[in-house]
Amino acid sequence: MSAEHELVVLNPATEEVVATLPAADAADVDRAVARAAAAQRTWAAAAPADRARLLRRFADVVDAHVEELAQLEVREAGHVLGNARWEAGNARDLLLYSAGGAERLLGKQIPVTGGWDVTFQEPLGVVGVIAPWNFPMPIAAWGAFPALAAGNAVVLKPAETTPLTALRLAELALEAGLPEHLFQVVPGYGHIAGRALVDHPDVAKIVFTGSTRTGREVMERCARLVKPVTLELGGKSPNIVFADADLRTAVDPFSFLDNSGQDCCARTRILVQESVYDEVRELLADALSTVVVGDPADEKTQMGPLISRQQLDRVRSFVPDEAPALRGSAPDGPGFWFPPTVLTGERHDSDAAREEIFGPVAVLLPFTDEADAIRLANDTPYGLAGSLWTRDLGRALRVSRAVRAGNLSVNSHSSVRYWTPFGGYKQSGLGRELGPDALTAFTETKNVFISTEA
Ligand code: NAD
Repeated sequence: MSAEHELVVLNPATEEVVATLPAADAADVDRAVARAAAAQRTWAAAAPADRARLLRRFADVVDAHVEELAQLEVREAGHVLGNARWEAGNARDLLLYSAGGAERLLGKQIPVTGGWDVTFQEPLGVVGVIAPWNFPMPIAAWGAFPALAAGNAVVLKPAETTPLTALRLAELALEAGLPEHLFQVVPGYGHIAGRALVDHPDVAKIVFTGSTRTGREVMERCARLVKPVTLELGGKSPNIVFADADLRTAVDPFSFLDNSGQDCCARTRILVQESVYDEVRELLADALSTVVVGDPADEKTQMGPLISRQQLDRVRSFVPDEAPALRGSAPDGPGFWFPPTVLTGERHDSDAAREEIFGPVAVLLPFTDEADAIRLANDTPYGLAGSLWTRDLGRALRVSRAVRAGNLSVNSHSSVRYWTPFGGYKQSGLGRELGPDALTAFTETKNVFISTEA
């Protein structure tokens, strides 16, 4: 088989082959979309309570397989076991949350004269979901499950490096009794299977999560068909630490090391008020030296490898050996390892300070006052997430409104809850996922006026 016809899934901690599978081409995508379109018509006609019941059953089946899914994610993506269990649980919880939405997809009754006016939220049809490799299960779920609950069928293209948990989720859907072809996975390459899904005239919407560069292409291609698109793209999120903050908690290194830094919300720009810069530097140096990096299947491991050699080369390119930095340690030998790193000699406009590195690397930058912190926080094309730390309530409120990003945490590093909205400003994306309005993004609003005069 030529390279374009198969996917080789490697364990990033060992470089051993986990699986080899055929890669979907445009004809496979075409067949999947045709089958999905037929399945969707029956699904949309089913009673909302029946759709909800089947999705709850799907959640039960996922729940019974959390450990298996987590172990699979450890092998294909190198995620540490605790994180992988959380990710499988997140898919299950979102299924339960979305299932309730099927029964609550409410329209409006709008006062008019001469009749009644009502709105309906109608499903779009077949939704194409394109997922990245960094959180294969949650991100597949965030696109697919609310779409299913709203009465759509889903064709999901996982990343070429991490197709296995998505394929397993589709098997579990069938085991739970979801109609055949309603939720299909087409493992394949982005420029072949991904592009075919984007260009397909019978795919009513694309939900794309990945890099800003690819997202831009997806949006351009969708524009040709006037196809709606949700984009969840890159980030370079600030962690703004004022001098009055609880410094030790504020500079928790897992705010940028979680998932080896391959997290679109990673707080990779640590902005620190200059009066506490030296103290924060010391705290970070101590914290990095204790991070346990190694075998992701070991319960004690805190950080695993990067996903691939390509990603390792990219991360290395931002961190020359001589760069002033605080450094932790990482294993030698097979696997794609990079140590936890904080660059301390960067200017705020350097490549390392502005571009998404997508590895365990942050930059430490001083600021003078509140206005300077806001200016630096906003000085990036991205706007996905951010944290700010202060005990001054007025300042917390002012800064959280002034930073142009979709997901901010005050005195916390959390970003994602399946029941709150998630998405980016600026070049971090378009549209929102999750939260109470997630299903609406997978519907058209139809307005019907009914005359009482006829
Ligand atoms: P990527 O853009 O390379 O690939 C993402 C997906 O798009 C993959 O499935 C890929 O096969 C597919 N693809 C590639 N070219 C395509 C094309 N021409 N047409 C259609 N599909 C195509 O991104 P990646 O390297 O897999 O993921 C990392 C990126 O994802 C980072 O930039 C990260 O910030 C971003 N991300 C964003 C969020 C968010 O919610 N904002 C979440 C996770 C990851």
